Amino acid sequence: MTQSCVPGSKMPAVPSRILLGPGPSNVSPRVLQAMMQPMIGYLDPDFMLIMDEVRELLKAVFETDDANTLAISGTGSAGMEAGLSSLLEPGDTVVMCIYGFFCERMVEMATRIGANVVPIRAQWGRPFPEEKLEAELRNRTDVKLVTAIHAETSTGVRQPMSELARIAKDHDALFMVDTVTSLGGNRVEFDEWDADYAYSATQKCLGCPPGLSPVAMSRRAIEAMRSRKQAPSSWYLDLALLGNYWGWEEQRVYHHTAPVSMILALRQGLRDALTEGLTNRFQRHTLNAKALAAGLEALGLECVVPEDHRLAQITVVSIPDGVDDIPVRQRLLRGYGIEIGGGLGELAGNVWRVGLMGESSKAEYVLALLSALENVLPKEGYEVARGSGVAAASAQFGAAIPQGD
Ligand SMILES: *Cc1c(COP(=O)(O)O)cnc(C)c1O
Repeated sequence: MTQSCVPGSKMPAVPSRILLGPGPSNVSPRVLQAMMQPMIGYLDPDFMLIMDEVRELLKAVFETDDANTLAISGTGSAGMEAGLSSLLEPGDTVVMCIYGFFCERMVEMATRIGANVVPIRAQWGRPFPEEKLEAELRNRTDVKLVTAIHAETSTGVRQPMSELARIAKDHDALFMVDTVTSLGGNRVEFDEWDADYAYSATQKCLGCPPGLSPVAMSRRAIEAMRSRKQAPSSWYLDLALLGNYWGWEEQRVYHHTAPVSMILALRQGLRDALTEGLTNRFQRHTLNAKALAAGLEALGLECVVPEDHRLAQITVVSIPDGVDDIPVRQRLLRGYGIEIGGGLGELAGNVWRVGLMGESSKAEYVLALLSALENVLPKEGYEVARGSGVAAASAQFGAAIPQGD
């Protein structure tokens, strides 16, 4: 019997993929190289300087002067759980705007914390109607926190934030926003929204491996956290303790061993994002998504979200009648090294989710995917006009990219 884990076995090398799913996305050689720097102690003064730089870089991408930032050891869900468990005590009321799979994850977490959870549910695949939040808050005086998601990766909708944040503020509630898929791909205007807590993840539009959850927290939220009656039940995700380690206070206090190499990766990913320029980066995401949508539509496929509300970094497309989800994705992966995502929750089996996030948002990947689909879809019983998808996308690039003449 062959054992794949013994030295010298035939275990294959990790294949090189084009990652066009909902994350992780591709990572640049610069970021990978940043992780190969020497190991350093988590309280070394030089490491403190690196952490300070990461905090400043995060403030730039969150577009905040006033908030405090850090990166939690863990993925986006850790940022979600840290916010909920640090801001909510058992019995506190939290009103949650619900319009997708990840919104429901927040409900689950807040319920486990013992909060009084008030979910307001609205249709998946459309922006959440702000009036619903206003109507709920009008009748309440007890709301500690309101939550929403900027980029619902399960539906592909870009949720306008300023109005939801304003309504929360008008009713004296804290406002928490999930920017897991938006940070680095869309403007996240933490100060402009007057948000209190935002969290993200390194593996979506920031171009880093999975493993850290960057967060921003307002002074108001820090005050609320400090005036809790009892400490949060989660010690590891207690943002007050994490803030003490990251230098939110004068005195730094050891909390846990920082994932040094990931913090070096994040620093490089953030430096690269700011070197590219946030506006250029958002425009790149927008153009590639537009070309992808044009190509998919030329193949007769339908985007689920109306154009005005679509996210550039994740395109949700209906699976045509008679075509099976999984065989198509397997052919793309095995034959072309391309990963795309399937549907989550009520959309499972009905949609594909194509991510063009961070390093994965590239014209050549858009063209490679469309060309692969033109070969794969007919094998799964769906005829397409060969070349039409690539041509439609290419026309978008041709119109947008200077030709050098
Ligand atoms: C991916 C995602 C999460 C979960 O993040 P993990 O890094 O997988 O823990 C949460 N919210 C949104 C909107 C996401 O897209």
